Amino acid sequence: MSTFQQLGLDANLLQAITDLGFETPSEVQQKAIPTLLESERDLVALAQTGTGKTAAFGFPMLQKIDVNSRTTQGLILSPTRELCLQITNEMKLYGKYLNGLNVTAIYGGSSITEQARQVKRGAQIIVATPGRMKDMISRNLVDITKIQYAVLDEADEMLNMGFYDDINDILKDTPVDKSTWLFSATMPKEVARIAKDFMSNPLEVTVGNKNESTSNVSHEYYLVNSRDRYLALKRLADANPDIFSVIFCRTKRDTQKVAEKLIEDGYNAGALHGDLSQNQRDLVMKAFRNNQIQMLVATDVAARGIDVDDVTHVINYQLPDEIETYTHRSGRTGRAGKTGVSMVIVSKSEVRKIKSIERIIKREFDKKELPDGMEICEV
Ligand code: ADP
Ligand code: MG
Repeated sequence: MSTFQQLGLDANLLQAITDLGFETPSEVQQKAIPTLLESERDLVALAQTGTGKTAAFGFPMLQKIDVNSRTTQGLILSPTRELCLQITNEMKLYGKYLNGLNVTAIYGGSSITEQARQVKRGAQIIVATPGRMKDMISRNLVDITKIQYAVLDEADEMLNMGFYDDINDILKDTPVDKSTWLFSATMPKEVARIAKDFMSNPLEVTVGNKNESTSNVSHEYYLVNSRDRYLALKRLADANPDIFSVIFCRTKRDTQKVAEKLIEDGYNAGALHGDLSQNQRDLVMKAFRNNQIQMLVATDVAARGIDVDDVTHVINYQLPDEIETYTHRSGRTGRAGKTGVSMVIVSKSEVRKIKSIERIIKREFDKKELPDGMEICEV
């Protein structure tokens, strides 16, 4: 067990860590931080969501870049604008005692000229979604030819979202002798391929079993008739008045519909999906972070990587198509050492999927009856 002091970080970064209230480095931080500080080699790190990956690459990057230069030296690619903003905020907190540090977020749905202006002011670190980044490069609004450190964060999700070509195009414009650090929760074939294509002889850091879900999350399922899904959701909410939850639906349309019904029925609910404007999404996320929304109904893409520590419940209103997505969903709760519950509302025809998920997460589900005994379960 090591302390942050033992990892080799400078005093001004350690001071920021103290301010943040981080007491001991997480496992991925213990393994990655000293390695990245000492070596210029590439790195592949596998660790579940909520294990502190941002700090694992953030602190080494902040220590290694030159804040007295206004050249862009660090690039962090991340799958969604929400994550981009989140990482940018974290990096600013980590580097709050680095005088002259400029971390700029680049993402779609917001003015490209404004973002270009911020970059021009001398961003040493850019945190970007691949789509907008590629756009900025092709319009010559950003210079990434001096990048020394490139991070692919949530690599599995970026590839899920079809960003392979964009990532390829972006990295082609960066120096060959830079270091590339890839962080991912899972290691599907596509991530192995990207590691092979873009990295040379990378160091590897793996935390826990790469398929194991966080151990402080318990998993429950509720068997209902398909038409009773919404009723079941309300029962679960009523039985947990202090619930602070993310509710996953399969489509944008269902997401919007379920959120609207909940609001109509008097719950503190909100919707988060890709058909909303950036502004609407920011407002919903802000309300959720401030606990003004207790039930955030979201699509997988919109909710990916959302890092709100107090989420008590994840509710799978519908199971995802890809079983692996379940791991990402349940990782929204049980964060920062807290416990969480991941609930699945499931119909008889889908119940065999529970077994497949159990095999992947290596944990068993509890089969639960809906609260208040009213019989809506199938027999
Ligand atoms: P990941 O990227 O692995 O999903 P994050 O980097 O978003 O995880 O971190 C999850 C949460 O844990 C964040 O709120 C972060 O501030 C917090 N955190 C990170 N490292 C530590 C630590 N060493 N001690 C306490 N909290 C931490
Ligand atoms: Mg992360």
